[in-house]
Amino acid sequence: MRDMLFIDGQWSAPAHGGQFTVTNPATEEVFAHAPAATAEDVDRAVRAARKAFDEGPWPKMSGAARAATLRKIADGILASKEELARIEVMDNGKPLPEAIWDIEDTAGCFSYYADLAEQMDVSAEEQIDLGDSRFTSKVVREPIGVAGAIIPWNYPLLMASWKVAPALAAGCTMVLKPSELTPLTALELGAIVEHAGLPAGVLNIVTGLGPDAGQPLSEHPLVDKLAFTGSVPTGSKIMAAAARDIKNISLELGGKSPFVVFADCDVEKAVEWVMFGIFWNQGEVCSATSRVLVEESLYPAFLERLVTEAAKIKIGDGLEDGVLLGPLVSKGQQEKILAMIERGVTGGARIAYGGKRPADLARGYFLEPTILTDMDEDNTVWREEIFGPVVCVKTFRDEADAIRMANDSRFGLAAAVMSDDLERCDRVARAFRAGIVWINCSQPTFTQAPWGGYKQSGIGRELGSWGLSNYLEVKQITSFDATKTWGWYIKE
Ligand code: NAP
Ligand code: MG
Repeated sequence: MRDMLFIDGQWSAPAHGGQFTVTNPATEEVFAHAPAATAEDVDRAVRAARKAFDEGPWPKMSGAARAATLRKIADGILASKEELARIEVMDNGKPLPEAIWDIEDTAGCFSYYADLAEQMDVSAEEQIDLGDSRFTSKVVREPIGVAGAIIPWNYPLLMASWKVAPALAAGCTMVLKPSELTPLTALELGAIVEHAGLPAGVLNIVTGLGPDAGQPLSEHPLVDKLAFTGSVPTGSKIMAAAARDIKNISLELGGKSPFVVFADCDVEKAVEWVMFGIFWNQGEVCSATSRVLVEESLYPAFLERLVTEAAKIKIGDGLEDGVLLGPLVSKGQQEKILAMIERGVTGGARIAYGGKRPADLARGYFLEPTILTDMDEDNTVWREEIFGPVVCVKTFRDEADAIRMANDSRFGLAAAVMSDDLERCDRVARAFRAGIVWINCSQPTFTQAPWGGYKQSGIGRELGSWGLSNYLEVKQITSFDATKTWGWYIKE
């Protein structure tokens, strides 16, 4: 494992020489140390990115030339797929097959933005009809400048790629700060971009604690843009920090996403997708469909099947064969979630399944898949993001009732609906106040499609062409026909 920061194409120790421990949540053992960057290191990284942007070749290169490097990065990621996936499992706790999926997706993200970088060359100039023959106008798109990326721990390398790949494709330079809980694959990415020949200073990687490394990055005056994924409270701080210098921002924040299940659908399919929507990645998923709304007549059969299937999930170390639910990322997260469940129960929720540490696992930050029912709509477990394998199930009377309950949240990241009536699905999909809507499924995510939320779930969209636009300024170049005279002050 790497114990240096990656700044200006060099591996260097943090100015104050500090380190922090990295714990495997399945064993509770410290298995690595990561360099603890502070404001001085962040300043050095930002200055390197600034210089690479202002004086270096990267922003001026053709999209095709940048694409060639992005493809080498994608190849480098795939070449280290197994190793990266194993690090991700030890760092985050997720089952190995999920980690492999993440790493393949990460490589796919770099390839996808390589294609978009190339397309930028051909679509570089858009002519605008101004409706006045004396003028011609065109629009060109240029990289915003130095971007600061701050990312969470639930999909460490994948969340990095959603920012790094489009930023590099656009011609920006970047300073990346991963979460202190999962810093390791970001450092590996440093070695991969170095090997791919990315010019020095284009991507800089500083590991460290939120207040020590994240905050100075968000406040640095030489940063033009901040891209953040994480919780609402931290997102709010990032937005406040950006306000001082009017930095461009994109925020991907939390959620409490609803899944509406109508009585006309197949129970088995509904249970399968509801489980995927909340137990995949231990429910540590921003778009997890953690509030399930089931039409009254289907509820008894649905709940019975959900409990039966949840009980079959194999819990354990993500490196073990057949495990479908790993540990939570940290002790802090485990304690927070257990406290939330307790508070929910005190407030009237009933535990239909789970709700505690699995009795047969002596070590590790595990939590049983948990199903809560019978809570009021003002219960905290129904309203607040839990960010774990905890699903809340309630019934609804009719379509209007379901839509009202689904939208009654300060979040608006995702939503799902399941019914055999596709017209109804489409109607409900349009009625959801959320940026990502799934019909007859929950969670499948594609690099080509926009990702982001309504309301407090964020600002802007990542992925697809929207992801690239996050890192591009728009410039109009308008010319006046010099053979003509303007004639406002000086008449002919
Ligand atoms: P978090 O606590 O907000 O942390 C996110 C990042 O911000 C981490 O790198 C963290 O560093 C850093 N940070 C903490 N305090 C900071 C400060 N004062 N200034 C600048 N940076 C600071 O979120 P998390 O617990 O890692 O992730 C879970 C949250 O992310 C959930 O709410 C989830 O819904 C959301 N999420 C959203 C999406 C999406 O696409 N919408 C995707 C994934 C996750 P440290 O870890 O070192 O403290
Ligand atoms: Mg860890």
